[in-house]
Amino acid sequence: MNEKQGTNGTEKGKSRSERLKKCLKRGMIVLQETFFPTDYVCELCRREKPSDGCPVCLRCREDLPFLKENYCHRCGAYVGDESDFCNNCAEHTPLFTQGASVFSYEGGAKRLLLKYKEGRGRYLADWFAELLIERAGEMGWSADCLTYVPMTAKKRRRRGFNQAEVLARKMGERTGLPVLPLLEKVKDPPHAQKELSKEERLENLKGCFVCPAGESLKGMRILLIDDVKTTGATAEECARVLFKKRAAEVLLLTLCSTRPKITWEEPEEGEKPENAP
Ligand SMILES: [Zn+2]
Ligand SMILES: [Zn+2]
Repeated sequence: MNEKQGTNGTEKGKSRSERLKKCLKRGMIVLQETFFPTDYVCELCRREKPSDGCPVCLRCREDLPFLKENYCHRCGAYVGDESDFCNNCAEHTPLFTQGASVFSYEGGAKRLLLKYKEGRGRYLADWFAELLIERAGEMGWSADCLTYVPMTAKKRRRRGFNQAEVLARKMGERTGLPVLPLLEKVKDPPHAQKELSKEERLENLKGCFVCPAGESLKGMRILLIDDVKTTGATAEECARVLFKKRAAEVLLLTLCSTRPKITWEEPEEGEKPENAP
């Protein structure tokens, strides 16, 4: 009996020490990422670069698809010419007050964002937060608080962090604006969003987000943060919930924005214009 207890004790001790080792290893990675980010090597081309706080070298930075011009003045997406609005916004005005993004979701920006989301480049959040603050300034925006697009509790547990929340918190630290958890994602939409049209996406998202704040948000100007905007349906549903609580403005600020799809309507037989695909 005693011997058995002894063996169990040793096994328990062994698994405890293994767990401790794993924790220490994980801790070391976090410490390394915090204090010794790969600041001398460009995140994109892996060439050496000066330690200037920017994770990419000057050449790669110049190639990044910044959305400083040719962007939609309603949703912030790339429009490709000098039109004021993208195709989507020309047809349907988004429910949020205005949207803006730092980058178009392509090239180096897409690679950096994926690296950050996968948890391999968590330290990038600091630089991303600075770029987001800069973009809000360029738009001439002001807000009373920051909030972020939430994940379901299950997804957050699985991923270990909500990338949008981390960006909002980093922005809060730098600007002094309060970061309020105004939204909760209580369930995933019943159908996968990918295959759905904009209208179907909005319908599919109904009831997925709630605003748990007991008080009303009367007159508040809210800066809603997310990592990437695709059709904007998620942000629109979040805005709808916040406006229902009487928010005055919901400004959507995302790191990246995908290019709106150009819809090609099949012409009638015999009407196909020259150079048509
Ligand atoms: Zn580079
Ligand atoms: Zn637009």
